[in-house]
Amino acid sequence: MLIEEYISTDKPERGKILLVDDQVVNIKILHQLLHQDYDIHMATDGLKAIEICEKIQPDIILLDIEMPNLNGFDVCAKLKQRAETRSIAVIFVTGHFDLEKEVQGFQLGAVDFIHKPINPVITQARIKNQFKLKRQSDLLRSIALLDGLTGVANRRKFEQHTPTTWQHCLRDKLPISIVMLDIDFFKRFNDCYGHSKGDECLRKVAQTINSRARRPYDLVARFGGEEFICVMPNTDFDGALFVTQQIVDSIIALKIPHEGSDVMKFVTISAGLASVIPSQNMELQALIESADKQLYRAKSQGRNRVEAININAMAAAPERIEG
Ligand SMILES: [Mg+2]
Repeated sequence: MLIEEYISTDKPERGKILLVDDQVVNIKILHQLLHQDYDIHMATDGLKAIEICEKIQPDIILLDIEMPNLNGFDVCAKLKQRAETRSIAVIFVTGHFDLEKEVQGFQLGAVDFIHKPINPVITQARIKNQFKLKRQSDLLRSIALLDGLTGVANRRKFEQHTPTTWQHCLRDKLPISIVMLDIDFFKRFNDCYGHSKGDECLRKVAQTINSRARRPYDLVARFGGEEFICVMPNTDFDGALFVTQQIVDSIIALKIPHEGSDVMKFVTISAGLASVIPSQNMELQALIESADKQLYRAKSQGRNRVEAININAMAAAPERIEG
């Protein structure tokens, strides 16, 4: 996703609020108050609340403290433990003013308290304020994870995001593919055309890669100077090879002049692909290293090409020979 898409405010998305209370009547009151301005989701127990948070990631959760089984404090603590739900703003809804409880709530990471009986004006104002803060911090967080020059994700985003993707693929037995990409003879490009043209080239290449790996869970990140990495979950070897070849072809199609290149008179890119269905005895780092090894092969075999490895097929091969 590009930076412009983050900061475009033409049509602000409606906020999502999750109402959690074991008393349906309390949920009804809040629903009545908020449904015109926000998308409302509801839960009557803590476990269900956590499940909904993981699934839809609401902006704000209005959380009753006193509930049977998992109480509001337990729910809040669990949400703050997980990266996916950590940034949800928790507002506790409590029956009576209790200083000790409020201290405990804020220590657990809550952003505010609302007291029952619900005062409509105060409640709406507090939620509006928290929603505004939530949007601002979401924006800052997303900008901090973007590469300022190219607008694609930065390496930090890659490092934060990819272990989670890996875990999902491991759990659901899905293939995952990683592509390492490196612009050919980029140092010579900078020497020949200057750094300003170099930056322009990086931007075009990054956005072209981004436009090819464009499903919601694909990630394109700038890995280093002229190096990019692409993570494609739920993508097998054949599918990833197809996309990677498309990326290589579409970089040539940009026809960015490159007199210093030994490959052709336009900018080209080399790609190393590695695919695997993760298993418990395998690590993400090994997949990244495999992709890097393939990139090295692509470079040594003439550049402007894809070299690829299907790790599962490699592991299966010796068995076939023995059989
Ligand atoms: Mg209650």
